[in-house]
Amino acid sequence: MWVNCSSTNILFDCGEGTAKQLIKNKLDHNEIDSIIISHFHPDHVSGIFMVLQMFYLQKRKKPLNLYLPEKANEFKSILDMFYTFTSRFSFKVYFKLTKNVNADHKQIQPIPSDHMQSYADFVQKHSLANELLSYSFIISDAGKRILYTSDFLDIKIYNKYLKEMDIIIIDALHTEASDIIKFAGLTNARMILNHGLSEEMKNRLKISINKFEIADEELEISL
Ligand SMILES: [Zn+2]
Ligand SMILES: [Zn+2]
Repeated sequence: MWVNCSSTNILFDCGEGTAKQLIKNKLDHNEIDSIIISHFHPDHVSGIFMVLQMFYLQKRKKPLNLYLPEKANEFKSILDMFYTFTSRFSFKVYFKLTKNVNADHKQIQPIPSDHMQSYADFVQKHSLANELLSYSFIISDAGKRILYTSDFLDIKIYNKYLKEMDIIIIDALHTEASDIIKFAGLTNARMILNHGLSEEMKNRLKISINKFEIADEELEISL
């Protein structure tokens, strides 16, 4: 998701095909200031390899902030492993943690989400280093507010924000459709369903479609 606010351009998440979409939509990569990854599921991060390679091949000059949910330094080593040596790029890449994004971008507030918690037992049992971190975001600019949930489990974590939002871009796949519909009834925000729809959601939408818009790859919204 490309967000333009206060003359800053930010990519939220970077799934497979992002580089292709940037080219297809004639979006100038030099305008991107930061890429923020919400969590380390491949559908949110696997596109970063090709995006960085494209920036490199196109001789990008502008520095790039890359915010990662956990293990920012290890992620740099993964890129090295794939011969994507960021230290040899024509532009500087700053590896940072998503939780600190507000220090550079005042308009973005990261909200820890529960999305990775279902792995907690497995990670503990096998003594893995995964930190189970995942984030949602509130983007505030010129008196308008967007909530981008990214993926989550329990919708209740957003209850305290929903009255203030103008747009809610919500993961419509991982949680109960009935909960999303109930949630939508509590807010006047535009509800954009993202991340594909569960079968249950598809069925429910036949009844309550008016309240929702469905995000597609090229949906463009102005506030
Ligand atoms: Zn996920
Ligand atoms: Zn996902």
